[in-house]
Amino acid sequence: CKTCGQRQFLCPGHFGHIDLVVPVYNPLLFNLLYTLLKRICFFCHHFKASRREVEKCVRKLELIIKGDIIAAKSLDLDLPSESSNPEDSDVSNKSSCSMVTPRGNYDNVRNLKPQEWTSLQFAEAKLALLQFLKIETTKCGNCKAKNPRISKPTFGWIHMNGMPHADIRANLIRGCNLGETFSGGEEEKDLGASSDVDAPETHSFNGTFPGTQDTAARRHQKGSGAVPSGFKKQKDLFSGPLLPSDVKDIIEKLWENEFELCSFISDMQQQGFGKKAGHSIFFLGVVLVPPIKFRLPSKGGDSVMEHPQTVLLSKVLQANIYLANAYVNQPDNAKVIVARWMNLQQSVNVLFDGKNAA
Ligand SMILES: [Zn+2]
Ligand SMILES: [Zn+2]
Repeated sequence: CKTCGQRQFLCPGHFGHIDLVVPVYNPLLFNLLYTLLKRICFFCHHFKASRREVEKCVRKLELIIKGDIIAAKSLDLDLPSESSNPEDSDVSNKSSCSMVTPRGNYDNVRNLKPQEWTSLQFAEAKLALLQFLKIETTKCGNCKAKNPRISKPTFGWIHMNGMPHADIRANLIRGCNLGETFSGGEEEKDLGASSDVDAPETHSFNGTFPGTQDTAARRHQKGSGAVPSGFKKQKDLFSGPLLPSDVKDIIEKLWENEFELCSFISDMQQQGFGKKAGHSIFFLGVVLVPPIKFRLPSKGGDSVMEHPQTVLLSKVLQANIYLANAYVNQPDNAKVIVARWMNLQQSVNVLFDGKNAA
């Protein structure tokens, strides 16, 4: 064996890996990611919920971690009757108090964070989180911007469905412009970095995306009125596929801006992913290939059947090569690249599906 220098029958076998040309979604967490994404504002990169709702969810999760599930549940009953409590005559004082009290305990709670969640804690935390995430709005309760609706045309792929013109106009009137934050320059670098293909090729590929119009619009903006170009920008950016690299960017910013709540999400998903994983758990850049001895071909009569996992792995490998070729040979053909990216995603989905079935 070239890797360990042992003779063939002594070599334990080694794990290999396939470096993906682009990141794909982790199929095991795709549904959670999609639910999360529907709750994110693409303008201010916070949850679309109001600060008060976010705060409430964090408090609830903190109480669950402390083991006080009754108090956590009572938060739902608490809030509406806040001002009708006769004990506290000073209403303004009370409302600030309810924000301050859990903050005081906050450091303790962090230290108390259990290494392992009990199943009851896990179930309650999941419920609290889903309750928070299930509310669907297009309008951001934080910056008031209107967001596009997203959909999943198929498992493992996300689409933006455009925005009504009235919503775009409302955004522009309100001053909700897409800064440098969404898509645009950073993303090109991002994609280049996560890709094994030479940077110039990926760069020109990105040129075919709204990114170019984006920079053109920005340039235009300086000369003439800002409204028409800003309009076009939101119109173009918010329809079409939302690629895993875009989503990665969006999720990264959310983790920065909403760290308290997001760290709970990381914690709850940590099983098997390592503690420091954070938002990276939602994406895959590498596919592990188990040693051959775990996927030996089966012989039936005079025919030899490859192990099912070997078949699925070779599909991932093939899809990855197709996509890499598209970057090299048709760098300007966004349609082909997106189609092959989607194909790669699907091959990974099937691989994970097969693993679960086995
Ligand atoms: Zn070896
Ligand atoms: Zn917002």
